[in-house]
Amino acid sequence: MIHWRILKLAAMAAVGVAISLPAMAAGEVNVYSYRQPELIKPLFDAFTNQTGVKVNMVYAQAGLLERLKAEGANSPADMVLSSDMSRLLEVQEAGLAASVTSPALTANIPAQYRDPAGHWYGLTMRARVVYASKERVPAGKVVSYLDLARPEWKGRICTRPGDHPYNLGLIAGLIHRHGADKTRAWLLGVKANLAQKPQGNDRSQVKGINEGLCDVSLGNTYYMGRMLADPKEKAWADSVYLVFPDQKAGGTHVNVSGANVLKAAPNPANALKLLEFLSGAEAQKIYAEVNSEYPVKPGVPASAVVAGWGAFEADTASLAEIAGLQGEALLLVNETRFNDGP
Ligand code: FE
Repeated sequence: MIHWRILKLAAMAAVGVAISLPAMAAGEVNVYSYRQPELIKPLFDAFTNQTGVKVNMVYAQAGLLERLKAEGANSPADMVLSSDMSRLLEVQEAGLAASVTSPALTANIPAQYRDPAGHWYGLTMRARVVYASKERVPAGKVVSYLDLARPEWKGRICTRPGDHPYNLGLIAGLIHRHGADKTRAWLLGVKANLAQKPQGNDRSQVKGINEGLCDVSLGNTYYMGRMLADPKEKAWADSVYLVFPDQKAGGTHVNVSGANVLKAAPNPANALKLLEFLSGAEAQKIYAEVNSEYPVKPGVPASAVVAGWGAFEADTASLAEIAGLQGEALLLVNETRFNDGP
């Protein structure tokens, strides 16, 4: 047991996880994070204050799955934090996620935002909405995602590539609701209406609206909060308003950031403790304030800025079911050559 522990520490040192001895005495937990340190740090600090458990974080924009696979049973990681559904699924599909549950987790996180078998848990929610030009799109012109395929939008839509996980999630949601044939027709309609070949990220589309390149775009809600808070991007945000589509037709598509506890976790009890903390009221409030996302825990309010966009009905379908259709969504994107543009 002692030898095993030392091997673990050696492995951790090799991958550059900082270890401090006093913290070890109180226990620790090792997190691989796709989420940015600025966002996650305040949450980990609050957790350590409350529990005495130290959090070691390795942050990367990509490649953490490959790293976990390479490390195998010797991985020091207890948990992966991901910024979207597709990453959560990747870890599960690679067979690396533990199946965990607890009364706190199931009480804090609604069933639609977690894997029924506990391989992943959503921790924050965001909607994928339509950003519309204040100048050129009268209120009420877009009420459904389906509207974007109508001829009146020709040359007026901007979006990032169709095979980006955020768009694959939306397309999977549409397949879940309308079936593959109708969704294929929708993709072809939207493709024909694009102002340019899909490119950039969600914010650059809003920049395009501000510059008159297009009139509507698809984007995650929290980017509105981020643009408003960035002096360089505020003018982009000020040129648009948010439309929550399909309020009377099944609800707006939503996605989650979240976490997997790992099968090979050397500190599984602390990983569970951290996951429970992140789903609890204190952490949910921090998430809401720092990243303009919606808390998943019922009863925790959104930030004032986010609440100002108005209440909305979210799609109530299980995200696990929608996520299962992402492969089919990718097939449709390729089949329609969506990324070739208009
Ligand atoms: Fe994002």
